[in-house]
Amino acid sequence: MKVIVPVKRVLDYNVKPRVKADGTGVDLANVKMSMNPFDEIAVEEAIRLKDKGVTEIVAVSIGEAKSQETLRTALAMGADRAILVVSEEKLEPLAVAKILAKICAEEQPSLVICGKQAIDDDNNQTGQMLAGLLGWGQGTFASKVELTAETATVTREVDGGAETDSFKLPAVVTTDLRLNEPRYASLPNIMKAKSKPMAQKTPADYGVDVAPRIKTLKVVEPGKRSAGVKVADVDELVMKLSAMGIKK
Ligand code: AMP
Repeated sequence: MKVIVPVKRVLDYNVKPRVKADGTGVDLANVKMSMNPFDEIAVEEAIRLKDKGVTEIVAVSIGEAKSQETLRTALAMGADRAILVVSEEKLEPLAVAKILAKICAEEQPSLVICGKQAIDDDNNQTGQMLAGLLGWGQGTFASKVELTAETATVTREVDGGAETDSFKLPAVVTTDLRLNEPRYASLPNIMKAKSKPMAQKTPADYGVDVAPRIKTLKVVEPGKRSAGVKVADVDELVMKLSAMGIKK
């Protein structure tokens, strides 16, 4: 059973984003970039499923040429091979989903495991769009994934608690934070990853129109929040809330 894991290179989650002076976006010059944390969870899950019928893991990244570092990380964690689709332009989720759909048509995976969202734009769209384009089932925000030869059963985090759904393969799953704790790649595996295969493509190779549909008008820093107050106990909290007109 083959699994595709799309991994995105994003601003490292420990770095405080700075908005460019001209308000056109986040300044990514000379800052640490890493694999999107939800995608690390996706790679980890695919590796854990290797004991349960998964035979090959293909990591895919669409983005600037430096995304090959992100793919090498996925390979060092345990992916078998990688596909890099180079686009120096930042692509929207629909364009990414269309490219992934073409890759799925070529590779015929049983499962695609995406992150639930990329922490750069927090879109939370690509996995859902990919499942829609392919007409496949989808299990989003997975906190548990079980596989048989023909089905996936996913426990999902929903507002009221957890929900469990089963659907036929091939399918798309997106990972939530509590699905697993991703491993660190060991030094020997980082060395081994250098010789694992990585194909290099462009969006044109897949015949996908990646022209932007969304126009960013302006990016601004969030407004400053005023400092909070500490309360001594619940009674004081309730008193303050009711003084503000907030009732039980
Ligand atoms: P988003 O819809 O942008 O929040 O992204 C959701 C998930 O889709 C990510 O966690 C990745 O698994 C995948 N994804 C989004 N953009 C890319 C990309 N450029 N390359 C590879 N995977 C991506």
